[in-house]
Amino acid sequence: ILTATGAFLYVTQAQSHPPEQLDADPTKPTLVVLGSGWGATSFLKSLDTDEFNVVVISPRNYFLFTPLLPSVTVGTLEPRSIIQPTRYITRHKKRKVSVYEAEAQEVDPAKKTVTFQDISDVKGAADSVTIPYDYLVYAVGCENQTFGIKGVNEHACFLKELGDADKVRTKIMDCIETAAFKGQSEEEIDRLMHMVVVGGGPTGVEYAGELHDFLIDDLKKWYPEVADRLRITLIEALPNVLPAFSKQLIQYTESTFKENRIDVLTRTMVKDVKDKAVVVQDANKEIREIPYGLLVWATGNTSRRITRDLMNKLPQVQTQRRGLLVDDYLSMLGADGVYALGDCTATSYAPTAQVASQEGIYLASVFHKLGQKAKLERQLADLRAQPAADPSEIEATVKKLNRAAKLTPFHYSHQGSLAYIGSEKAIADLPLFNGNVASGGGAAMLFWRSAYVSTLYSVRNRTLVLADWAKVKIFGRWV
Ligand code: NAD
Repeated sequence: ILTATGAFLYVTQAQSHPPEQLDADPTKPTLVVLGSGWGATSFLKSLDTDEFNVVVISPRNYFLFTPLLPSVTVGTLEPRSIIQPTRYITRHKKRKVSVYEAEAQEVDPAKKTVTFQDISDVKGAADSVTIPYDYLVYAVGCENQTFGIKGVNEHACFLKELGDADKVRTKIMDCIETAAFKGQSEEEIDRLMHMVVVGGGPTGVEYAGELHDFLIDDLKKWYPEVADRLRITLIEALPNVLPAFSKQLIQYTESTFKENRIDVLTRTMVKDVKDKAVVVQDANKEIREIPYGLLVWATGNTSRRITRDLMNKLPQVQTQRRGLLVDDYLSMLGADGVYALGDCTATSYAPTAQVASQEGIYLASVFHKLGQKAKLERQLADLRAQPAADPSEIEATVKKLNRAAKLTPFHYSHQGSLAYIGSEKAIADLPLFNGNVASGGGAAMLFWRSAYVSTLYSVRNRTLVLADWAKVKIFGRWV
């Protein structure tokens, strides 16, 4: 125990007192990183900053562990437990990294510049700046897809950012408190206690499950007068939920939802969103209104404006609306020095956290080679400048240089898909033993928990998440 405590203290001490960093070096190229999500963060974590002056620009100055965001909306986890400040990563780098909390407005691939703006409420005098880059790592992710459906932005809650979780939590509590208000009409209680989730992808399914737990575990204790009136409905346009999972797991999820009294309306498409009801078209093409108290919108993602603008600047090569086209080395087509990764790209891989983080690690290895190459080129130039240089030393350096210039293409290794579906059950689709192993239930739930905890980036985050889970187990949620 003493050794383990000693090692733990040593690691935490080392983390809070990083070594002195090298200053920016004007002779080295500038590498600008846009984003602080899965792709950008895994890239930054693995990046060797020795050969570059690195600048990070992102509207939020932290990494958000999105798979656990639904747990924040119902108070299972505290917001700070699932974020990691970007500066926590950069302050451990060999060379100083500049981090700007700002939104990139424009990338000019011809001039090789990025324009970014301070979007905080307390703007100072300098709020828009344009800087040049030698290399750009473009990892801005994407935004919520609304398909242009009227009323979504005004009335629905999304599940993408930390602020969204806060909004959902407030809305849930407002609905319940208002339903419990003295003299509330029966019809209004039914509407307010109806929680509707649109989109039966993993986000919508996990959210419906999490919401169920909260309402079942806690609502009965805190609000016995309205708890029985609660209903959860999941609306999905396709014939079934979770199209990317195996048939067996889809069935398992649908039957678990049935047991948990979560109504699943498949082949039903939301056409319009009003302030108190969604307008849907069902399988028989009939249009009807479904009243709701809380509406959570989880119908997937689409490209951001900055990405669409960037594509429009290169219409000959950037021909996919879905995202940026890149080659096998994640180098963006038609843009010198630009690399793109994660959800803002259009590749053969699903837009998942797993893909983005593997791409980030891969890209850091590409930059490691670029750095090595630059170093060797300098060594070679120095050697050649010496009149009495050893020819075999020159030859060895040329060989090393050729090796550093050789890149292997990105290869994605799928580790499986996991999703929490409520009442301490999860589903796992795992590529094991040369086949797919599909599992649902309590064992999958334990696996889900341990996989997520081990994927959390820091010891601090792991400790906080485990402590939050323990707190809920002992004291319940604090509504
Ligand atoms: P998604 O695109 O996977 O699912 C959105 C769903 O909404 C689709 O099934 C679509 O048919 C439905 N839909 C769209 N418009 C609709 C409408 N008007 N009315 C009713 N239904 C409508 O989106 P997601 O769940 O946010 O996932 C996005 C990506 O992130 C996916 O690649 C997913 O695999 C990944 N992800 C994975 C996990 C996990 O593995 N646990 C969790 C979250 C997200």
